[in-house]
Order: sequence, then structure tokens, then C-alpha cells
Amino acid sequence: MYYVPDGTKICGFYECQKCASRFLDIRVAPSLVCPYCGEVADMEMGPDDVMPEIKEDAKLVQVLEGEDIEKYDTLLSLAITGGNYEWI
Ligand SMILES: [Zn+2]
Repeated sequence: MYYVPDGTKICGFYECQKCASRFLDIRVAPSLVCPYCGEVADMEMGPDDVMPEIKEDAKLVQVLEGEDIEKYDTLLSLAITGGNYEWI
């Protein structure tokens, strides 16, 4: 398993509206901050700087359970590592 720990019973399949990344996350929510293009808090920000707007660009496509989790995890992992895969 690449995105979620072994034995995960339920997780969310997300697609980012901004960078088109697809990923799984153990958190299931209508939207998440994209781990690839989402804003990361800047620790060097001064007190007068405006807080960057947190955009939850990654939208939940589907809730996955059981065997589907491993199937999607494998497919998405192969896509990232450049392996040959056929999208579902
Ligand atoms: Zn993104």
C-alpha cells in the first residue's frame, strides 16, 4: 500500500481540480487540501503578513471500501512511478 496503511477499511479517492492529481487519503471528507499543490504554512511569515488562503482543491470522487482500496492504491502507485497501467 502506498497511500494508505495496510488494513485500511475505508478511505477517500480524491482528484485535485487544480493539478489533476489523483490520490487516496485515509481521511474521508468532501474536499481536502491537495498534498501536491496545496498551500503549506510558511513558518517564516512575519506577524503582519496575510495568512494564505487554504484552498481545498482536492474533491472527493468516491469513497472506497475493502478490496477496492488496494486496487486503486496499486493503480495510482503505478501511475506515479511511470509503470504501465490501464485506468479503470
Ligand atoms: Zn493539486
